[in-house]
Amino acid sequence: MSVGVAILGSTGSIGCSTLQVLGRQRERFRVAALTAHSNADLLQRQAAEWKPAYVGLVNGGSGFGARGSGVACLVEAATRPDVDIVVNGIVGAAGLEATLAALAAGKRVALANKETLVMAGELVTRTAREGGGEIVPVDSEHSAVLQCITGRRPTELARLILTASGGPFRTWTAERLADATVDEALRHPTWKMGKKITVDSATLVNKALEVIEAHFLFGLPYEAVEVVVHPQSVIHAFVEFVDGSVLAQVGFPTMELPILYALTHPERVPDAGTRRFDPVAAGSLTFEPVRPELYPAYALGRAAAAAGGTAPAAFNAANEVAVELFLAGRIRFGRIAETIARVLDGHRQADAGSLAAVLAADAEARRLAREAACS
Ligand code: NAD
Ligand code: MG
Repeated sequence: MSVGVAILGSTGSIGCSTLQVLGRQRERFRVAALTAHSNADLLQRQAAEWKPAYVGLVNGGSGFGARGSGVACLVEAATRPDVDIVVNGIVGAAGLEATLAALAAGKRVALANKETLVMAGELVTRTAREGGGEIVPVDSEHSAVLQCITGRRPTELARLILTASGGPFRTWTAERLADATVDEALRHPTWKMGKKITVDSATLVNKALEVIEAHFLFGLPYEAVEVVVHPQSVIHAFVEFVDGSVLAQVGFPTMELPILYALTHPERVPDAGTRRFDPVAAGSLTFEPVRPELYPAYALGRAAAAAGGTAPAAFNAANEVAVELFLAGRIRFGRIAETIARVLDGHRQADAGSLAAVLAADAEARRLAREAACS
């Protein structure tokens, strides 16, 4: 019997890469469900090729035989009995409910949607424990960590060092950066991804989100999760063990490998689809500290992480609003970090153990962010 996969956000960058991977693994996996937000054309083409039992379009009704519509289709797709693994490739807080529902139903969630773990890490990990579900990271740095620690005991783990490409502005000055354009921010040097995460890579918010993601996935304190800038994106993470030994996971940048590993973990299966590693072609690998003056939002994210409770949810929500406004041409690049700072200043921190508390923090932070960004 093949393993049933639901892909939430099948029309996005992660969703399309997942279908690429599955196209080479047809004997192991079957596509059981696909959902998208509004790209009906692409969703229809994917459905025609893969013939999933369930197709859901959040925004657009059931025009082409989609079985579900509205936000409810995400949970429906994620909890179907014929689904074993849910690939969550939704961007932003919109992916939370489906992640929780899948974990409560005992599914494996191959999680690209890091915002979900950042805003509700306690709740998501608890739901997985109680529901018998499992969270396996798709994010390349976290996949790297998982690949290095699989087979080891948690007590053997000492420290993680996540790598960051530094984004398109790594060599810029802080003054020039404040007025960077949308086009400039979307020119990522090593990865081709959706717009929101590409802007997050330019501000380094993405790496702050990943530090929080790592904390919840691997149970390490924040002091033990470090970040280094590595412009070539060849080493995805380092893991230091208690004896001082360090393992790293290496490969040319592609999401297809971490996606496949999230589907097969802890096993590995043959796959000839990605470019094989060649150290000579990789050339020199370099490492630099994060320059705090260039990435003010990174420090804000780390501070929100250290504060705990609902602060990471507020950080995430403020960033989502600010990035949307930046992409719409409504605020300048420098305003993204300023907006996050204003929201965190005004945030009344609460315990983040319940969905109601998380959603209230998210809504309040969005309101504050809109006010702060445009005033
Ligand atoms: P994307 O913008 O390319 O795709 C997003 C997908 O989510 C689309 O299919 C869209 O239909 C769906 N979606 C958007 N809003 C929705 C909503 N309100 N309700 C339901 N569905 C909605 O984004 P992406 O680059 O694929 O990123 C997806 C997630 O994966 C993000 O959390 C990102 O941080 C993470 N991630 C992406 C990459 C990458 O290489 N693209 C790498 C690591 C992590
Ligand atoms: Mg990443």
